[in-house]
Amino acid sequence: MNKELADFLNTDLQFVKGVGPVLAARLNDLLGGKRVLDFLLHKPIYVKPRGISESVLDAKSGEVLTIPVQVVSHKKGGVFRNGKRAPTQILCRDKTGAELTVQFFGQSFLDYWLEKLPVGSWRIVSGRMDFSSRGGAVISHPDFIEKPEDKHKIPEFQAIYPIGEGLTQRIMANARDSIFAKLDNCPTFLGLSRESATGGGNEFFNSLRAIHYPTSNDDLLPTNENMARVAYAELFAQQVAIALTRQKRKRGIIGRSMRGDGTLREKLYKMLPFELTEAQNKAIEDIENDMASDEPMLRLVQGDVGSGKTIVALTAALNATECKMQTAFMAPTDTLAQQHYTKIKPLCDELNIVCDILTGRDKGAAQKEKLTSIRSGRTKIIIGTHALFQDAVEYKNLGLVIIDEQHRFGVAQRAALSAKGNNPPLPDGSGAAGPDFLALSATPIPRTLSMTIYGDMDISIIAQKPVGRIPIKTSRLPVERIAALAERLRLQILAGAKVFWVCPLVTESENMDFAAAETRYEYLKDRMPDGSVGLVHGQMDKKQRDKAMTEFAGDKSKIKLLVATSVIEVGIDIPTATIMIIENAEKFGLSALHQLRGRVGRGSDQSFCILLHGDNLTEDGGKRLDVLCETEDGFVIAEQDLMMRGAGELLGARQSGWVPYYFVDYREHRDLFKLASRNALELTESDPALSTDTGKSARDLMYIFGREIKLDG
Ligand code: ADP
Ligand code: MG
Repeated sequence: MNKELADFLNTDLQFVKGVGPVLAARLNDLLGGKRVLDFLLHKPIYVKPRGISESVLDAKSGEVLTIPVQVVSHKKGGVFRNGKRAPTQILCRDKTGAELTVQFFGQSFLDYWLEKLPVGSWRIVSGRMDFSSRGGAVISHPDFIEKPEDKHKIPEFQAIYPIGEGLTQRIMANARDSIFAKLDNCPTFLGLSRESATGGGNEFFNSLRAIHYPTSNDDLLPTNENMARVAYAELFAQQVAIALTRQKRKRGIIGRSMRGDGTLREKLYKMLPFELTEAQNKAIEDIENDMASDEPMLRLVQGDVGSGKTIVALTAALNATECKMQTAFMAPTDTLAQQHYTKIKPLCDELNIVCDILTGRDKGAAQKEKLTSIRSGRTKIIIGTHALFQDAVEYKNLGLVIIDEQHRFGVAQRAALSAKGNNPPLPDGSGAAGPDFLALSATPIPRTLSMTIYGDMDISIIAQKPVGRIPIKTSRLPVERIAALAERLRLQILAGAKVFWVCPLVTESENMDFAAAETRYEYLKDRMPDGSVGLVHGQMDKKQRDKAMTEFAGDKSKIKLLVATSVIEVGIDIPTATIMIIENAEKFGLSALHQLRGRVGRGSDQSFCILLHGDNLTEDGGKRLDVLCETEDGFVIAEQDLMMRGAGELLGARQSGWVPYYFVDYREHRDLFKLASRNALELTESDPALSTDTGKSARDLMYIFGREIKLDG
C-alpha cells in the first residue's frame, strides 16, 4: 500500500473534517477503534429514501417524508401553569395547500427552530411523518430543514449506520463524506477481483464506497455485487493469513518421518472385537501419510461422539511406538483421561507396551516414579491432562502429541494464534519442537466454519458411525408433562435403565444453575426408587464429581438417574446409559444438545432422548428441536445451527478468540469461502513473500482487515 493511503487509513478520526476530539471519542466507543479504517469497516444497516414528494397527501404514515412547504404560522409551546407540556408547532402548507405541522418538544432551541422556519418562507423539511389523532400530518423534530437552494444537502438515499450515544446520522454522514473525499484523491488503490484475486482498477475501494453510499436496501444485501466483493476480500485476507501461518509453522518446525513397521497395529486390529469403519480407515491412512512425511503433522480428526476416534488415535500412537517414539495423549479433564486410560491400558498390556496415566492428582513418590519412567523412555504412551506439559515432565523422545476434545480448550486459542501468526500452539509451548500433532474433536462444524477456525490444520472427518449402532429415538415434550414422564422413568429404572437428566443453563451464574438442578433432584428423588437418584454439578469439587460419575458408570451402581447441570463432561462414555432427558432444551444450541444426546446410544440397547421444553416455545424454537428429532448427523445439525443462529452463537460467546467478520455473511457467502481459500493457497504457494501485485494486494487487505502477520521469522 502506498504510504499516503496507509497514513490516511491510520489517521485518528479526530483529525477528520467535521469530527474533532469529542466525537472521535464517541466513535471510538462505537467502532472499537479510532482510525479512519475503523470507520470504513463499519457498514450502514439500511437505507432511508428521502426523495422529494409532491404532496403531503401522497405520504404514508410512519415513513420518511421530504417535502417543500411554506411556513404559515408559529405556535410557541412550553410548560403551562397547570403543568401540561405542549410542543412548539409550526404550521406549514405544501404547494397543493395541504397542511403539515412541524413540531418540537422541549424548551431549548425554540427560537432556533423558529428562526430556521420563518413565517412566509419556503423550506424543505424531511423526517418521519405521522398522522395525528385529529388526522393532520405531523413531523416531529425533522432530520433536515433546508432552504430550497440547499436541496442537495438532503441525500436522496440516506445510509443509516448503527450508532451509539452522542452520535447522529448527520455526524456519521459528515465523517463519511470527509473520508471518501480524501480517499477519492489518493493516488492508487489496490484492485482485487473476486475470481482471480488479481485484476485492475479500484475495485475494492469502489465497492466499499458503494456500500457506504447505498441507494437502496438491496445494495446492502450480502448478495449485492459490492457486498460480495468486499466480503470476498475479507475472506481472502483471512485465508492468506491462515495459509501463511501454516506455512510458517511448518517451516519453523523440524518434523521427522515416522513410518513404523506395522507390527503393533496388526496385532491391535486382531484384538479388536469389531472391524474398523471405512471412515476410520481413511483417517488412519491420512495420519500415517502425515507421520511418514518429514513435515510435521498438524491434523484434526473431526468425528461425532461415538464415531470411534480413540482407536484411530491409538493407531497413531502405536505407529510412533513402532518407531521407538513416545506419545502424549492429553484429555481436557481427569475423568476423561482416566476413561481413555481404562480403555487403552489393557490393549497396551497385551501389546507389551508401557502405558501410564499422569494427572494433577499424582503426588509424591508415585509421581516421581512415573516421571522417571517417562524420562528414561520406558513409558511409551502417556495419557493425562495438561499435567503432561508441566515443566517437571521430561520426555526422552516425544514423537506424537494427541489432544482429545480439543475444542474445549483449544479453539479460541488456535483462532487467536492463527490470526496473530504466533508460533504453533504446541502444548509444550516451545513452538519449535518436533512432535507430530493430532487433535480430536467431537464438535462437528460446517466446513465454512472449520476453515475459519481450523484453517491452519489438515482435517479428517469421520462422518460414519460404527455399524450396528441403533439410532437414538428423540422426541420433544412440554415440561408440564413432567409428572407423567417421571412415572415412566420410574418404571424404566425398576427395569434396570440408566438415565441422565440434564438441567438447564439458567444464567451465566453457576449458583443459579445449581439451584435449578438441586430443585429437580429433590423432585425426582421423591418419585424414583429409594437411593436411585444422584446429582452432579459444577460446584462439587472434582473428586466428588468424578466419584459420582464413576459410580454411575459402574455395572453395580445403585444410582440409576443422574441429575446434572450441563457441565457434565463431554466425552464421558457410559454405554449402559440409555435415556437422556434435557430440560429447557430450547435454551441450548443445537450442537450442544447433540453433544449431550451423544452420552446415550453407545451400547447395544435402544436409547431415548427427550427434549423437555417450556410451554412458550416459539415456532422457530420448535423447528430447531425438530431438527434434532429428525437427524443424528452432527454435521447436518451444525449446519442447521449455523443457518439458524449465526456463527457467533454456534461457537458460544465464551469462545472469546472468535473474530467476527465485518462484511461476511455465513449464509449467503458460503461459496466465497471456498473461492477465497483456493485462491489464497494458490497465491501463498506461488508467492510466499507476497511480492507480486496480487501478493501486495493481499498484504493490503490483511492490513485492512486486521489479519496482518509478520512475514519473516
Ligand atoms: P469417540 O469418537 O466419541 O471418542 P470412541 O472412540 O470412544 O468414540 O468410541 C466409542 C465406542 O465405539 C467405543 O466403545 C469403541 O470401542 C467403539 N468402536 C470404535 N470403533 C468401532 C467400530 N468400527 N465398530 C464398532 N465399535 C466401535
Ligand atoms: Mg473420545
